[in-house]
Amino acid sequence: MRILVVEDEKKIASSIGRALKDSGYLPDLVHDGEEAWFRAGTEDYDAIVLDLGLPKLDGLTVLKRLREAGTQVPVLILSARSAWRERVAGIDAGADDYLAKPFYVEELVARLSAILRRGSGAATPVLSARDLKIDTRRMLVTRAEKPITLTSLEYRMMRYLVTNKGRIVPQTELQDHVYASEAVPDSNALEVLMNRLRKKVGSDMVVTRRGLGYIVEDVA
Ligand code: CA
Repeated sequence: MRILVVEDEKKIASSIGRALKDSGYLPDLVHDGEEAWFRAGTEDYDAIVLDLGLPKLDGLTVLKRLREAGTQVPVLILSARSAWRERVAGIDAGADDYLAKPFYVEELVARLSAILRRGSGAATPVLSARDLKIDTRRMLVTRAEKPITLTSLEYRMMRYLVTNKGRIVPQTELQDHVYASEAVPDSNALEVLMNRLRKKVGSDMVVTRRGLGYIVEDVA
């Protein structure tokens, strides 16, 4: 899952980035509103963490533009504790949730996972497809109750496919959501990774639709 983190205070931005990485997300950090607007328009993010007080273009304007452009991406806004009017304006403009500063990064990660789950229709932090379960809080994957050890790339791949179960995920989309933007390899590497993942979770779990992509079905 790729997350765009927009925060001009670099220390806060990097601590958010670290916490998201530790929880198996792929954060991209940007530090002003113009860059945020540009990145959100050119790349496919699963969610955006958006500070409201930003240089060049303020966060509320970025959010309004995104929603005017029809973008449905979940947005979690950050604002100063005292700026409640700003938060109300943010929710009105289409933010999915907000956090007042200062906050604990653990809470940010929990709120973000919650809005991502709402987006995928899952109400609990446990995602599932057939007898495979992913506990997103503890990054634990089991199949038929047996724990499976995955690398962080394999975990991101499995989680993305299960979040999108029942839909064919094209190779290029999977690449975008599994690899960091500066490290996207060729499609061979993705297939190698897919083969490794299948060995661990069972080859029946992820089906290849030739020329279209991969799919995880919810029913066997
Ligand atoms: Ca700020």
